[in-house]
Amino acid sequence: MSFSFQVEAVCGAARAGRLVTPHGEVRTPVFMPVGTVGSVKGLSQELLEELGVEILLNNTYHLYLRPGVETVRQLGGVQRFMAWDRPILTDSGGFQVFSLNELRRLNEDGVQFRSHLDGSLHFFSPETSLAAEIGLGADIVMAFDECTEYPADHARARHSMELTARWARRSKDYFEAHKQAVPWFERPLGPEGRSGQRQALFGIVQGGMYPDLRAESADRTLEIGFDGYAIGGLSVGEPRERTWEIVSRTLPRLPEDKPRYVMGVGTPQEIVEYVRLGVDMMDCVLPTRAARHGLLYTSHGRLNIKNACFARDEGPIDPACGCRVCARYSRAYLRHLYCSQELLAQVLNTVHNLAHYLDIMRRVRETIISGEFASTHPAV
Ligand SMILES: [Zn+2]
Repeated sequence: MSFSFQVEAVCGAARAGRLVTPHGEVRTPVFMPVGTVGSVKGLSQELLEELGVEILLNNTYHLYLRPGVETVRQLGGVQRFMAWDRPILTDSGGFQVFSLNELRRLNEDGVQFRSHLDGSLHFFSPETSLAAEIGLGADIVMAFDECTEYPADHARARHSMELTARWARRSKDYFEAHKQAVPWFERPLGPEGRSGQRQALFGIVQGGMYPDLRAESADRTLEIGFDGYAIGGLSVGEPRERTWEIVSRTLPRLPEDKPRYVMGVGTPQEIVEYVRLGVDMMDCVLPTRAARHGLLYTSHGRLNIKNACFARDEGPIDPACGCRVCARYSRAYLRHLYCSQELLAQVLNTVHNLAHYLDIMRRVRETIISGEFASTHPAV
């Protein structure tokens, strides 16, 4: 068995489950830290392991441009390349191409774009994107989709959703024909690994901010059949209530026996609310990006470590946090590091923010299993 998903407990719509992948198990609901270029900025893999990170997200667009798919493939795949012996998920590159590239040109076949590194011309299609994802060798790979811009009128959102549906079919066909090309297919995967294992392919529901288009997109994606289902095209500038509405109306259309992944969300409060709706997987740059800007999440809300009020504050970031930063360092010292632009500020702030997110997910999972989720995490 290369990939499987079991729901182990439910509490309302919230689910606790277990994903089995070629590089190990992931307990869900799970928050996936973003390791854009094969690194979670500022943190070593040792620190990620110590934090209990079970799965990372890498961006295909960035790894494709540098160091290049062929380099990673020859080095045994992205896990071996970055010395991370746990599961990895790669996105398809679609979101980056649409959000980073002003010079992109899109047609039925795919999208032409310029590298943000050197201006060179590249082309992503469902086939080339999946070829890159297979070459990188993440455990879970995503179908190539078009992220509909916001705002978009209904006709434009329909056109985009239909293109994503056709690209989903092409992604699946290419994957089925080439899945054995994954770098580790014929190699043993560590002590418990077996050769002959394959990646899992997830489909992505689009449809902009229109529930009817989302419903149609979900049906068409399910018809093709994937190992898991994501809701994409969110957090693109829409009000949070719209994000919420789209997720809550789309989730019930997704199968209960497959993992459900909401891409690119959210704040600590939001990730709990998405779990309440039945989401199993989430990723977001928020905890790591905010940390680098001195914004720290705590059990009492967010604090800005550069504020003068912390200059002589001997307390930890969050007295309720069990992370190694809160156990050792004062707010005063962390503020000093930040104001002095020390690299250590980014490292320590990121450790704390990720610990906070992972801790929330651990507690949420425990309370789903014990049946106390609704009482310990009242709806906000
Ligand atoms: Zn902490």
